[in-house]
Amino acid sequence: MGCYEFHDDRFRDRIHRNAFLETIADGMLWAEGPVYFGDGNYLIWSDIPNNRMMRWLPGTGVELFRADSNYANGNTRDRQGRLVSCEHGTRRVTRTEYDGTITVLADNYRGRKLNSPNDVVVKSDGSVWFTDPPYGILSDYEGNRAESELDGCYVFRADPDTAQVDIVTDDMVKPNGLAFSPDESILYIADSGVSHDPDGPHHIRAFDVGDGQKVDNGRVFAEINPGLPDGFRLDTDGYLWTSARDGVHCYAPDGTLVGKILTPERVSNLTFGGPKKNRLFMTATTSVYSIYTNSRGAQSP
Ligand code: MG
Repeated sequence: MGCYEFHDDRFRDRIHRNAFLETIADGMLWAEGPVYFGDGNYLIWSDIPNNRMMRWLPGTGVELFRADSNYANGNTRDRQGRLVSCEHGTRRVTRTEYDGTITVLADNYRGRKLNSPNDVVVKSDGSVWFTDPPYGILSDYEGNRAESELDGCYVFRADPDTAQVDIVTDDMVKPNGLAFSPDESILYIADSGVSHDPDGPHHIRAFDVGDGQKVDNGRVFAEINPGLPDGFRLDTDGYLWTSARDGVHCYAPDGTLVGKILTPERVSNLTFGGPKKNRLFMTATTSVYSIYTNSRGAQSP
């Protein structure tokens, strides 16, 4: 209770005023990349500096999902429900098959290693879209310190069938979270460039998806204050819920900040889950929080 901040009347329809913030996990060093599995009713996330992935099951609690996760960061599921992960340590994007084996979806661009894939989404055509800032190679804390082999930080599209990796846009400083609008006509991409440059961007941009291969017409959708946008998701009505320093900020499709969910720790990323996709799960520094909303997540599955 008392965890909401209202900026616009439209926020009242998005949330339940009597829903409260729950802490479902703690003891992380930096929790990231939550992804919900409806078939098993569990949540998976990354604990990057601890080089592990965790799992939470209602009524059971938290358990280790994967040790030695290659400093995995962002996670999602593909259209067949398989886990897709960004790995800092190995500088690649992988898919976990049903039998547990790992398939590499992308680990280079024209023969040069990726920086450190950060966050990933899968489009309805099966293509895998991911961001590639250098956070995982800047130090040994969230990966392995190394030099970049690329001349920038790109957003890529990988085709799992052909192993082709193409640049979607080169027009970002440090691309971070990303997600499609419910109809996939818009791709939203966070730029967290302020993390290493006080004058750098801390905004989410919107791009037209066009032919589904590249994006164009980039414009600033929202400036995030305080803090920066790391990860975000959209609900079925096109409202965008993003991480920020003081919690989660909810933006209307027109870019208006309608309200906030305030959290004790800085949120890194979030996802909708639960059988009705109305439960918001937030990875936040050392903890994972959840809260029931009056909105439903747009991502599928
Ligand atoms: Mg991120």
